[in-house]
Amino acid sequence: MRLFLSDLHLEDPASTVFRSFSELLARESAHVSAIYLLGDLTEVWVGDDDDGALAVALEEVLRQAARHCRIFLMHGNRDFLLGSAFADRTGCTLLEDPHTLDDHTLLSHGDAFCTDDEAYQQMRTLFRSREWQQDILSRSLQERRALAEQLRAESSQANANKAQNIMDVSLREVDRVATAGGSRRIIHGHTHRPGRHDRPWGRRYVLGAWERCGWLARQAEPGSEPELICFPLRD
Ligand code: MN
Repeated sequence: MRLFLSDLHLEDPASTVFRSFSELLARESAHVSAIYLLGDLTEVWVGDDDDGALAVALEEVLRQAARHCRIFLMHGNRDFLLGSAFADRTGCTLLEDPHTLDDHTLLSHGDAFCTDDEAYQQMRTLFRSREWQQDILSRSLQERRALAEQLRAESSQANANKAQNIMDVSLREVDRVATAGGSRRIIHGHTHRPGRHDRPWGRRYVLGAWERCGWLARQAEPGSEPELICFPLRD
């Protein structure tokens, strides 16, 4: 059994979302073989040296769970600065985006499929470049926190002026990637539009964001079709 989650956008360790996630990790890690966190685990990540309350609490719950099952981390467009130091400290494994599992299941955060949004893709290329990341990580924690706030404000302002369909995946791009890689199913998040979609090559499963409820996909065994589940968050 393996689980797939994304878009928790964790910010506050005292929040309902964080406590629900922490309980899910503790409960599920005892009997699943792997948990895949497919990006935007946190609302922002300023570097593995972050000593804020969320980073400290997250490290602890991941470390505990990784003692029982394998935990994989893929970057989203919020937590792309999450690095190998944090992965090593928690016992988690970083995954490249996209990553294909043994049963032709392709995993991705999903933002790389949003090719109709050209301005977004340009920013994505910049944020993922080694040079830009090294420059940012060389600055003080305080500077990085201020920059993250600024980027977040700019992004929500830019998105407010975009047509909704531009921020969804391009089906042409999804089909291209699936066909090129021989995928039978794709699991991704990012768009916050959970659902299951039949395509000529197989099925696309879109994970939901943890807002009014939690979301995950559960795959009983390699090759089987995942079940997309939403569940109430704890009080
Ligand atoms: Mn995202």
